[in-house]
Amino acid sequence: MRGEALLLAMWEGALGRRGAQREQALLDATPRSLPERNLLALRRYAQLFGPAAELVGHCAHCGATVEFMIDAGQYAGALAQDAAGNDAGETRWHELEAGNGATPRFRLPVPADLHALDAFDDPDAFAEALLARCVDGGMPADAETRDAISRRMEALLPGALLSFSLHCPDCGGTWNAPLDPLELLWRELRLRVERLLSDIAALARGFGWSERDILELGPMRRAAYLQLLAA
Ligand SMILES: [Zn+2]
Repeated sequence: MRGEALLLAMWEGALGRRGAQREQALLDATPRSLPERNLLALRRYAQLFGPAAELVGHCAHCGATVEFMIDAGQYAGALAQDAAGNDAGETRWHELEAGNGATPRFRLPVPADLHALDAFDDPDAFAEALLARCVDGGMPADAETRDAISRRMEALLPGALLSFSLHCPDCGGTWNAPLDPLELLWRELRLRVERLLSDIAALARGFGWSERDILELGPMRRAAYLQLLAA
């Protein structure tokens, strides 16, 4: 399957599903680690839509909307090394020597953690909940230990949680915006399919053709017929 038929099948498989099921529908694979999940999603994006991905962030200081672009293909290339270097799916405990003599234990986050935290929209609340899941005995009380564990996790599992350093043109503030490549892929897919379905509906109404006939026309001829309808 390829082209528009593939987009429609992916969209149908992912619609109304969340977590692991949506991941499977979009990636056609079950990634064992977070770097692998991010890598597969970025590769898929670049294959389907081309390397340039437009992203929108909101300034953490003044709320202004900031648009920026990433090269999904190049990004995937950089992540490939990270994903190859770590032990996918490892679940052992790591120990942190905290300054106060305590040694909290933590494990590295896996895709199942993201599935369980699907409902979190706020990045800070998400980060806290993720840490609470991964630390033995739950969230450490002091902020210093929490930061130290987060930093150690990032060092042990590069490419797991992606973020961008953004600069606001309005107020000059800087902040870190998280990026979930699977969400990026899903958003773009939905946008394309919604546009395609709306074109199909317009042509079906205008000419009485079936969905299959309209898809077989291909994008160029479809666009030409849509112009005729609008004329
Ligand atoms: Zn700002």
